[in-house]
Amino acid sequence: TTPLLRVKNLQTGFKIDGEYYNAVEGVSFDVRPKQIVGVVGESGCGKSVMSLSIMQLLPDGIGKIRGGEIEFEGQDISVFSDKQMNSIRGKDISMIFQEPMTSLNPVFTIGYQIEEVILNHENLTKKEARLRSVALLKQVGIPRAEQIVTEYPHQLSGGMRQRVMIAMAIACQPKLLIADEPTTALDVTVQAQILELMKGIQEANDMSIILITHDLGVVAEICDEVLVMYAGKIVERALVEDLFRGPKHPYTELLMKAIPKMDEDVEELATIEGLVPSVVNMPPVGCRFANRCPKAMPECLTVTPQLAEVAGRHEAACLLYEESWPTDGKREREGV
Ligand code: SF4
Ligand code: MG
Repeated sequence: TTPLLRVKNLQTGFKIDGEYYNAVEGVSFDVRPKQIVGVVGESGCGKSVMSLSIMQLLPDGIGKIRGGEIEFEGQDISVFSDKQMNSIRGKDISMIFQEPMTSLNPVFTIGYQIEEVILNHENLTKKEARLRSVALLKQVGIPRAEQIVTEYPHQLSGGMRQRVMIAMAIACQPKLLIADEPTTALDVTVQAQILELMKGIQEANDMSIILITHDLGVVAEICDEVLVMYAGKIVERALVEDLFRGPKHPYTELLMKAIPKMDEDVEELATIEGLVPSVVNMPPVGCRFANRCPKAMPECLTVTPQLAEVAGRHEAACLLYEESWPTDGKREREGV
């Protein structure tokens, strides 16, 4: 199948003290129709910057796409004008965020906010839009939908607000939903319900989803394919089953140890020692994970690993695998 979204060698920069630094460095991936792709990594790895790039929602004058292409249904939307993007955003591609309270406007009713999205893209009467918003709230499992449309965001629980956000996001039946940490602010039970809801809606609407999370446990619940990002780059890519059967990259191995277990105290959760290098201090060569990697070798500081297929349909960028060595690095090692 042709991809719905094709990101090619994306470079997104942030301006710091008048200079641009890439927070996303050469990221490429496809999202096929009806596929759920998980993007996982700690905060500061470029996941959110990558999704804001797709939506062209980077902070004005600070964030900028500096290279690459973002093809949606075959069109490069990275060069679209604001006006062109406005006609796509909320209609063909929607986004939901971690904290619904910051995306919902406290002074307008739930119904008004959903209907605003609908009326922005479709030629309906207010009455028709109201009927649609009630139906949408029912679809996302909100009880007493006729009543809720007249209420304000603060009158709802966090889980209910996230359901409202999902209703808004799917109001115009988008082909792609980008969900950035959609369950992070919610407690574990509600988190599971929201993931189940997203999965159900994906199936019912034939939608694709990019699910961004720092939690591999969330990925395991609903994703088909996973991209692991570290310091602005993709370091591993695999089908979910393959990733959980045997992660290839040392960073992914450590992320897996950090998945919360139901029977363990969250306080004792394994964390990965050290910090993601900041964009201004990115090592110019070598592996960006080297300063934290328990398997690092001397070459990891001088040779930059390339993302390559290291097993069937399973890619990693790590010098533990012959395939990840760049051609010139290999020659250097063999003393040619
Ligand atoms: Fe660790 Fe080296 Fe692999 Fe990087 S390239 S993940 S430092 S072993
Ligand atoms: Mg983020």
